[in-house]
Amino acid sequence: MLFSNLCPCESGKDFSTCCEPYTSLLHKVERLDETVLLSWINRYSLPIQDSFKKKASTIVFRISIYADIVFESLYLLGFRLFRHDQENLDESFRAAKHNIMLSLFASLSCLSQGLFLQSGSLIRCCIEDSLVLLDLSEHDSQLIKFLSGNYLANNVLKRVKQFIPKNFLRWYGHYSANFIHFGPFHTAPYIPRACYPDNYVLGSGLENLLLAMYMIHVVLERAHFNQLQKPFFWISHNKSYPEFQENNIITQYVHNLQKEIYLKFHPDKREKGYSYTSKTYRAK
Ligand SMILES: [Zn+2]
Repeated sequence: MLFSNLCPCESGKDFSTCCEPYTSLLHKVERLDETVLLSWINRYSLPIQDSFKKKASTIVFRISIYADIVFESLYLLGFRLFRHDQENLDESFRAAKHNIMLSLFASLSCLSQGLFLQSGSLIRCCIEDSLVLLDLSEHDSQLIKFLSGNYLANNVLKRVKQFIPKNFLRWYGHYSANFIHFGPFHTAPYIPRACYPDNYVLGSGLENLLLAMYMIHVVLERAHFNQLQKPFFWISHNKSYPEFQENNIITQYVHNLQKEIYLKFHPDKREKGYSYTSKTYRAK
């Protein structure tokens, strides 16, 4: 078989017996080696990921050891005691937490491949899912809807905002307004390249990941409060209503790491030879 007859789809087969029938159906004869989705995989996402690892692996490691703590302490816990359907509830709760973890992985994957905006959308999904679990823990009426398959996540923030720290509302708003809904980032002229010439985009993406982990941790710990021996964030003075305490090792760790991210990928840093937009990428 001649080398030039190999199909550009990389199947290793001859072009005429592989993809040619498809290309001729579309009357496509040009640029068969430069087709958009395969180019994305081969020429962009993989090389970007390599340079991401070189630039950001230390920060990712430090977010990761924190993530271990979050999942080790909360992952296996089932739902609090409920009148019926306990097994089903426990299983649903664990599955939901598992999916939150997978969405965080997906967010990291996007970020590592230069997809900053898309990484943020996934983060907003993870946070919403953790708020849903809190909603179910706090409201039997919502739980009953959930058990009958009629639960809706609409207005979940309204229902749980009294149970979470105030600044979370602002952060959640930031992710919603800028990533999920059409916002200023959607019109920022951003092209993924190896790897984030705009350091502040990379820094901002890493910070998003860290803050998401923190929010999920705080929210899930609140949802599981009665099942925990030693919570990090919540303290119950009168046994009925846990209060958030700002002073704890996790919050301190997150603040330190946040500062480190700012230092390493400074938001105002401008490199020679790159063009920058005035659009802001950071939570205020
Ligand atoms: Zn082919």
